[in-house]
Amino acid sequence: MTSVPDSEFSRFAQDSASSVDNRFEVTLSSLIELSKVPGIAWEAFDSSNLDTSAQMVADLFRNLNIFDFVEVRRSAVDGKPGAPAVIARRAAKNGKPQVLLYAHHDVQPPGNIDDWKTKPFEPVRTEDRIFGRGVADDKAGIVAHLAALQALVDSKGKDFDLGISLFIEGEEEAGSPTFRNFLEENQADLAADVIIVADSGNWTTEIPALTTTLRGLVSVVVQVKTLDHAVHSGMYGGAVPDAMLATIKLLASLHDDQGEVAVAGLKSAQTDELAYSENSLRQDSGLLPNTQTIGSGGILQRIWGKPAITVIGIDGQPVALSSNTLLPSVRAKISMRIAPGQDPAEALNLLKAHLLGHTPFGAELSFGEVELGKPFDMDDSGWAAQLVKKSLAHGWSAAPVNIGIGGSIPFIADLTEVFPSAQILVTGVEDPDSRAHSPNESVHIESLRKAMVSEAIFLLAGNELQL
Ligand SMILES: [Zn+2]
Repeated sequence: MTSVPDSEFSRFAQDSASSVDNRFEVTLSSLIELSKVPGIAWEAFDSSNLDTSAQMVADLFRNLNIFDFVEVRRSAVDGKPGAPAVIARRAAKNGKPQVLLYAHHDVQPPGNIDDWKTKPFEPVRTEDRIFGRGVADDKAGIVAHLAALQALVDSKGKDFDLGISLFIEGEEEAGSPTFRNFLEENQADLAADVIIVADSGNWTTEIPALTTTLRGLVSVVVQVKTLDHAVHSGMYGGAVPDAMLATIKLLASLHDDQGEVAVAGLKSAQTDELAYSENSLRQDSGLLPNTQTIGSGGILQRIWGKPAITVIGIDGQPVALSSNTLLPSVRAKISMRIAPGQDPAEALNLLKAHLLGHTPFGAELSFGEVELGKPFDMDDSGWAAQLVKKSLAHGWSAAPVNIGIGGSIPFIADLTEVFPSAQILVTGVEDPDSRAHSPNESVHIESLRKAMVSEAIFLLAGNELQL
């Protein structure tokens, strides 16, 4: 394939910045209008808002007049229809790459309204930020794609060669239930060489980031039994072990005294060294002053590159109903974040082997419901990753960094499975203070502008590439 000379990038940067700037107020108004629609893909909420926001998104991209089609489509799982997604495509010409732009138009529920300083669905613009539910996650991603495409049209006209596919999902915050089916049913329209997922964060408001790793998720419900029925704790306590005691000892074996995960054989991955102090961790997480951190190694290494285990639920006896009884059985749900590069099924086997090997008193152990989510570990040596980094450097006038996310984006695994040859670029529209999913969500206007310019540079450069 050909490459784009470095000298071209300053011209792309200028063209991109002037298009984004000329249209910036209009773009921000679109963001604000989109953010007034409470499209929430959870059953308890009015799903007609998702139809409204899908239509608004479709209209915004239709107005560009560059696609062969812009449609609202949905898939189903077990006969249950998913939320409406916007899909569009124009095919690449003359050997140029096909780029799929992904974002989602559904948002998180607002949570407790009293915790909001402004009304969640009445966006408020201050000097440097816009506040409202979804303004960052992920309606900012939608308008970033829009502004970048607009810049491509402003610079090249409508007859450019780059192929563009668009997928604006409507149920990401609800766990993307029909995502896999949607990908498979629309595979031909979504197929691309590069997928830009504009749904992550930047390192600071000055330093852009490419998200190159995500941890995966493994969870399992475990049941511990010691008795075939409950018995009086005075009659038998001291000689007969109750299931809660066995469970406590079993769960305690999952970590050593420093809080380091004690399950043998789990992988770790090396993450990039970025400055993040224990103080920042304390502030960001609300850790109490005398409570120590757990684990070992750099903070980011612990959060991004190593496994973590959390017991997220226990079914025993609520305190209010407690009586002097030896509980015969207890259930616990164990949730494990796994390092980039770790296979979830293998991690589950290691966890089960640990539990079976550490069951106290010969208690009976059985396993229930399992969830497996793959981690993500991007190879940043591909041409698209190199190109996006160059684009970020020019768009932000600052060198980008690779960041990880301790959490998981399960749909990324579906993308890699359905489109194994596509390079996936997880880019950021958020900054550390965006508070996605929390009250007072906001987008930093200048960061969003720089994200738009960078994506525009990427498209302009991609349009020059011969695959
Ligand atoms: Zn999101």
